[in-house]
Amino acid sequence: MRAARLSAWRAPLELVAAPDPAPPAGGVVLRVLACGICRSDWHVWTGADPDVALPHIPGHEFCGEVVATGAGVTRWRAGDRVIAPFILACGACPDCAAGHQTTCAHQVLPGFTAPGAFAEYVAVDHADANLAALPGGVAPDLAAALGCRVTTAWQALTGRAALAPGEWLAVIGGGGVGIAALLLARALGARVVVVDVVQEKLDFAQRLGADAVVDAGRRDAPEAVQEITSGGAHVALEALGTAETTATALKSLRKLGRMVQVGMPAGDHATMTLPWDVVYSGQLAIYGTRGMPAWRYPPLLDLIADGRVDLSPLVTRRVALSEVTGELAAFDRPAPPGVAVVTDFTA
Ligand SMILES: [Zn+2]
Ligand SMILES: [Zn+2]
Repeated sequence: MRAARLSAWRAPLELVAAPDPAPPAGGVVLRVLACGICRSDWHVWTGADPDVALPHIPGHEFCGEVVATGAGVTRWRAGDRVIAPFILACGACPDCAAGHQTTCAHQVLPGFTAPGAFAEYVAVDHADANLAALPGGVAPDLAAALGCRVTTAWQALTGRAALAPGEWLAVIGGGGVGIAALLLARALGARVVVVDVVQEKLDFAQRLGADAVVDAGRRDAPEAVQEITSGGAHVALEALGTAETTATALKSLRKLGRMVQVGMPAGDHATMTLPWDVVYSGQLAIYGTRGMPAWRYPPLLDLIADGRVDLSPLVTRRVALSEVTGELAAFDRPAPPGVAVVTDFTA
């Protein structure tokens, strides 16, 4: 199969002929229909993700068509179109039994700990426990984001911070996950203020229904959010994983507010200095979040299938495998609005 392989940190991905994967016991092989390019892939590319060993095929935001099933798979057969969360939980341990698949100790992560989907085919472990049928009306390029960014935002808002209708959400970082959070929060009946330093991204957020935007390069972002929301956001979603944006998220909250750390703090940002006086005096709650358990797909897919949320504006670039490196390098600077999805696996 054709695959994009990373052999050295920050080097261009090489287009290589790699062996076709075989279905693992309990797993399937998918022909990849689309695979998003996410900031987490940039962490892989730069060497900041400690889970990754080279050489490696990245790509964790995929959907595909089942082409082969391993022993013991009962829910899926060749021809089924499916999406998979990027955390493939075992489905059998106490964490999984309790519904906490994202903390499963036996999880497999295609694109991180296993070969990913910047390739024509990808193997998916624990298929019965993780895959969800791709609804007929959802195009593969939109569905790709349901493996990571959209599901991560959904879990952050509904599974962690319990965002309620009428509440204010402050999104710190208007990239892929931030824009997904904006669209979902609006569908949930919340009001949303998006904070970024790129005017283009703020314009994009406003076109997609943000109630307000704040250019953090031009004014004090927490002060602006406090003013817009008459006393602070109820929930803040940090979408970059840096010390500065995490501090902004905390300081943008009202008393008793909830902050969700969605961005992955990596490299120099793994240990941060933060305004803990604000946490103390505001009696704030802080949630970590990572991925989404597969059992939480149905209400999200219903929202999309019913047309209550339109994810189509999220995908702004459809690219070929050979263009992945350029998209990864774009995360070095504030990236352009919207997300890029690989839809051409032949070039
Ligand atoms: Zn498990
Ligand atoms: Zn991702």
